[in-house]
Amino acid sequence: MKAVLTAASHSDASLIRDALERRGIPTSLIEARGYGGVPYTEVWVDRDEDSPRAVEAIRKLHVHDPNQCKWTCADCAEGNPDAFELCWKCGASRREKMTDRRMSAAG
Ligand SMILES: [Zn+2]
Repeated sequence: MKAVLTAASHSDASLIRDALERRGIPTSLIEARGYGGVPYTEVWVDRDEDSPRAVEAIRKLHVHDPNQCKWTCADCAEGNPDAFELCWKCGASRREKMTDRRMSAAG
C-alpha cells in the first residue's frame, strides 16, 4: 500500500478513487487527522507498483482542465482545484504565498 494523494474531504478522495479504479488501479481510502484535528482523506494504491501510474493519472485529471486550478501550492508550485484544502501533489496546506503575507503577521 502506498499513499498517492491527500484530499481535504472524503468526496474529493472518492472522485479520485473512482477515476483510478476506472483505470484498473485498486485503491483504498484512509481517514486521518492533521494539525488541530483537521480531518483529511488519503488515497492509497493497494499495490505499490501502481503508484507511478496513479500519480500520472491524477496529474492528467488536473491538467485536462486548467480552469480547475484555483490556487497554487506555495511549496511545490502545483495547481490545485478550489475544493482541495491540501495540495494534491505534496500534501501541503493551502495558504497564501509568502510574498502576499503582511509583514505584521511575522512572529
Ligand atoms: Zn504542493
